[in-house]
Amino acid sequence: MRTQVGIVGAGPAGLMLSHLLHRHGIDSVVLESRSRDHVEHRVRAGVLEQGSVDLLCRTGLGERLLREGLRHEGIELRFAGESHRVPMTELTGRAITVYGQQEVVKDLIAARLAAGGTILFEADVVRLDGLDSSSPVVRYRRDGREEELRCDFVAGCDGFHGVSRGAVPEGVLTSYERAYPFAWLGVLAAAAPAVQELVYAHHDRGFALYSMRSPEISRLYLQVAPDEDLAAWPDARIWAELRARLETVPGWSLTEGPVLEKSLTPMRSFVVEPMQWERLFLAGDAVHIVPPTGAKGMNLALADVALLGDAFAAWYGHGRTDLLAGYSTTALRRVWRAQHFSWWMTSMLHRLAHDDPYEAKLQTATLRYAATSRAYATSLAENYVGCPRSDHLGPAPAEAQPPTWPPRDTPCRPGAGGSDATTTQRRSTYS
Ligand SMILES: Cc1cc2nc3c(=O)[nH]c(=O)nc-3n(C[C@H](O)[C@H](O)[C@H](O)COP(=O)(O)OP(=O)(O)OC[C@H]3O[C@@H](n4cnc5c(N)ncnc54)[C@H](O)[C@@H]3O)c2cc1C
Repeated sequence: MRTQVGIVGAGPAGLMLSHLLHRHGIDSVVLESRSRDHVEHRVRAGVLEQGSVDLLCRTGLGERLLREGLRHEGIELRFAGESHRVPMTELTGRAITVYGQQEVVKDLIAARLAAGGTILFEADVVRLDGLDSSSPVVRYRRDGREEELRCDFVAGCDGFHGVSRGAVPEGVLTSYERAYPFAWLGVLAAAAPAVQELVYAHHDRGFALYSMRSPEISRLYLQVAPDEDLAAWPDARIWAELRARLETVPGWSLTEGPVLEKSLTPMRSFVVEPMQWERLFLAGDAVHIVPPTGAKGMNLALADVALLGDAFAAWYGHGRTDLLAGYSTTALRRVWRAQHFSWWMTSMLHRLAHDDPYEAKLQTATLRYAATSRAYATSLAENYVGCPRSDHLGPAPAEAQPPTWPPRDTPCRPGAGGSDATTTQRRSTYS
C-alpha cells in the first residue's frame, strides 16, 4: 500500500491530522492497533479549549459538539472551607467546552469514513524503516500477517507507549521528565452533576475534582497513591472520600449514582525534543505528557496536528519546506506553556508531602491570590481556556528552519493544497 502521509495511531492527534490532510487534498492512511469499538469507548479527557472547539467547528465537525457539548464560562476553586469562582469568560472573552474525548474520536472516525478515508483498525505497527529516505516504510501486523505501507512522510501519533518515538536513532532526542508521587482515581458515574462548572478542591486528605460529561453523567477524580490498588476502592469508599474532600462548603452536597467505570491515571510530565526527525513527525502524547490537572493533553494533541496539517499543505501545495522544518520549534512553544501551567495547577492543588505544613500554607496562599487578584486569576483563566495560536507564542525563529529535507529528488505535487472552498462554515456560538 502507498499513501502520502502514513499516520500511526487513531487517537485525537492521528484522526484529526488525517481529517485536515483530506481537506487539503492530501492522501493519508491511519493505522491503529486497537479495534474501532475500543477507541470509540475509551474514556479519557473531556475539556476542549476554545481553540480546539474552533478547529473542530471550522473543519465541519461542530454539529454534535455544539449540540451536546457543555459550554463553561468559569471554574470553581474550593479550599479552606471556601468557594471561589474564576470567571474565565469575563476575564478572557473565551470559554471551554465539556465534550468527551471519545465523542471527538467518534466524530472524527465518522467524518473520515464518510469521506472515503482509510483507517485500518487492529493494525499493529511494529517498525518504521527508511525515515531518512524519500520513501519511508511503516511495517504493521494485521490478521496475523506482516504488511507494509509506503509513504512520503510518517506522522507518529501513537501515544506515550507507541513505537514511533523509539524509531528515532539514539542521541537525537532529549527528554525532560517529572514524576509525581500520586495518581488520579477517576470515576464515571450515572449521577446528575451537583454543580454547573468544574470544581477543583484542595483538601488535607488530597485533591478532588468534580467534573461532568453530560447533564446525566458525572466525572469525578481523587488524588490517590501512585501504586493504589483499584480493588481497595469499592464504590462506597469512593463516595465517602469524595464527600470528605468536596462537601466542605455550607449547604453543598454531592449527588451519588451507580459507578459506570473506574480507572487509575498516573501523573507525569514528559517532553521529548525535537518533535521531528527526518521524515518522521511526532505529535500528541507520543512526544509530550502533562498531568491532567490543567486539562491540556487532548488540546495539545489537536494543536500539534493543526500546525502539522498546515505544514504538509504548504509542502504539497506550494513546495514550501519552512513550515515542516519549523514544526517542532513552533509546537514546542505551546507545549512548554501547557507544561508549565499543568505543573503549576498540579503543584497548587495536590497534597505534595505528608508532613510539610509549610508547603500546605503556600498552596493556600496561592489559591487565595488566584481567588482575589484579577491579574492572577486572568493568568489562570487564559491558560485554562488556551492561548490562541498567534498569541505570545510567536512564530518559529528563523534559525530553527534548517532545510535538511525533503531531499531534492522528492517530487512535490503542486496545486494540491488549499481547501477553503470545501470548508463548511458553521456559525459558532463560541466566537
Ligand atoms: C489512561 C489515560 C487517561 C487520561 N485521562 C485524562 C483525563 O482524565 N483528562 C485529561 O485532560 N487528559 C487525560 N488523558 C490525556 C489525553 O487523553 C491524551 O493527551 C490524548 O489522548 C492524546 O491524544 P493522542 O492522539 O496524542 O494519543 P492517544 O489518544 O493515546 O492515541 C494514540 C493511539 O495510538 C494507538 N497506538 C499505540 N501504539 C500503536 C501501534 N504500535 N500501532 C498502531 N497504533 C498504536 C493507540 O491505541 C491509540 O489509539 C489521559 C490519557 C491516558 C493515557
